[in-house]
Amino acid sequence: MPLAVQCELCPRMCRLEPGQAGDCRIRVNVDGRLVALTHGFPAALHVDPMEKKPLFHFLPGARVFSLATVGCNLHCLHCQNWELSQAAPDEVPAYDLPPEGVAMVALRERCPAVAYTYSEPLVYYEYTRDSSRACRAEGIRNVLVTAGYINPEPMRALCADIDAAIIDVKAMSDRVYRETCGGTLQPVLDTLRIAHEEGVWVEVLNLVIPTVNDDPAMIDDLVLFVRDELGPGVPLHFTAFHPDYKLRNLPRTPRRTLLDARERARAAGLFHVYVGNVEGGEAECTFCPGCGARLIDRVGYRITANRLVDGACPDCGRPLEGVFA
Ligand SMILES: [Zn+2]
Repeated sequence: MPLAVQCELCPRMCRLEPGQAGDCRIRVNVDGRLVALTHGFPAALHVDPMEKKPLFHFLPGARVFSLATVGCNLHCLHCQNWELSQAAPDEVPAYDLPPEGVAMVALRERCPAVAYTYSEPLVYYEYTRDSSRACRAEGIRNVLVTAGYINPEPMRALCADIDAAIIDVKAMSDRVYRETCGGTLQPVLDTLRIAHEEGVWVEVLNLVIPTVNDDPAMIDDLVLFVRDELGPGVPLHFTAFHPDYKLRNLPRTPRRTLLDARERARAAGLFHVYVGNVEGGEAECTFCPGCGARLIDRVGYRITANRLVDGACPDCGRPLEGVFA
């Protein structure tokens, strides 16, 4: 008689009866064993620019082989990838691509990095980990694009194989996490601290949604967390919401809201604050915190100029925060 199993990966702590799947839909009790069903079966494969993740201070302009399986342990009403993230393994066609295959495709496509992205790489944890190890063995870097909803121990362990992470903070509000995403805030903050402590290059993303999380006090709380817990050199991206999935009654985020958030963050002392999903002008560009020189020009996901010399400002010599080689 197979037994129930306890999944200890994420804060949901699902107890699974035989045959039952967790909240993420991909971790299943198969005959008393916890099995991650999508290991080796990504449902999305693309080559993207690094800027699309968005990571602005990690190998600028690099091609990144990006993959995802189905599954997520959050259920954001505004999810922009819900067809992947909220699906069960048998609902979406998948490729057969074991971890060694991930590394081979990245090499073939001349990608110096692989991103585990689109849905939630922390729920297809073992595939992310094993692929990262296979890629490391070939000199390929690993990038997480994540909402960070995981328990501390597995997060810390995974960091050993990860080079960079863009971590999406939905809002500095437990209420918003519960009402809009079906999760809680604290585990995400723990993930940010752990990734930073473990030497992963971290950038923070905040999708600003009108009336949900655009309160300036909430923005300020996030800014202060980044500045005081991670450091003023950690990039923060404010990106625009567009109506999607179950949140179609709200308008797009006005460009002005994002630019105001950026100004607040810069005034509070953050060095690198960007806007996304809107035409940003200089709010998409990187400036030297030392002398103010413009170092990297971007238009959307495209780099139009990069003046960095060995990862430093050519005018004052100050090294820019990030990973450039
Ligand atoms: Zn400078």
